[in-house]
Amino acid sequence: MTEQRNGLVLKCIGGFYYVEAADAVYECRARGIFRKREITPLAGDHVRFTPQEVGTGSLDAVESRRNFLVRPPVANVDCLLVVAAVTDPAPHLLVLDKMIAIAEYKGIEPVVVVNKCDLGSAQALEEIYRKAGLQVIALSAGKGQGIDELRTHIAGKVSVLTGNSGVGKSSLLNRIDPALQLETGEISRKLGRGRHTTRVACLYPLAGGGYIVDTPGFSSLDMEKAERIPKEELAGCFREFGALAGRCKYASCTHVKEDGCAVLAAVERGAIAPSRQESYAAMYNEAKEWKEWEYK
Ligand code: ZN
Repeated sequence: MTEQRNGLVLKCIGGFYYVEAADAVYECRARGIFRKREITPLAGDHVRFTPQEVGTGSLDAVESRRNFLVRPPVANVDCLLVVAAVTDPAPHLLVLDKMIAIAEYKGIEPVVVVNKCDLGSAQALEEIYRKAGLQVIALSAGKGQGIDELRTHIAGKVSVLTGNSGVGKSSLLNRIDPALQLETGEISRKLGRGRHTTRVACLYPLAGGGYIVDTPGFSSLDMEKAERIPKEELAGCFREFGALAGRCKYASCTHVKEDGCAVLAAVERGAIAPSRQESYAAMYNEAKEWKEWEYK
């Protein structure tokens, strides 16, 4: 009898799970038990599987997850790279703040990546997000500047890229690991599909250790719709608000427009960027309208 082994799901497609083990990637089918228990294995899942015929196996069990995203469907994410461009397209701060808040809510480290630094100054964005206590990496995927800092930061981690279309996610992916583009094409060819016809999350091993998750077909809007943060939890997803906890005049302060609000006072004296509080307030007002079934 063949022994069970540990693996990592790199990709799920058409009912097959591509599981990376120490020696090779195995094409696995999930056992019927998953359907009965309503567990869907995801890319990024740590699993137990039993090798069968050459290169194949049966997926037996999914280990418990540290976190997971619904769209794109990926588990055990360490780092969410929230990508914006200095210009072309102009940064959409509300979208950035929503992605950052989702990462915080899920226990994923958000990193703001400011691309196209060769076309303008990244200073305004750097100031907003460094003030918020977030890691900011300014670079130019086009010119290949600042890529090493990003590469160092994501080494050994599972990182997902998100951002509006046009910010340069694909060119960034190819800069991070020049082998990535070739490999993406190769896998698509083996599967007999073009990479843009499928909406899947796929983990690619990085030369420096860790994985980058390519999520063709998924937009930041998909993520925003799938991951709703209840209004009570929202302030906790803006890390610079944390230091002010309990300092508002009213214990029930929502930090939207109340008198004696410590967050609004911090905006007033320049300690918090106005755009961060504005995004928070917009998200709070949206969340107020949701019915419980929409996010529970
Ligand atoms: Zn307040």
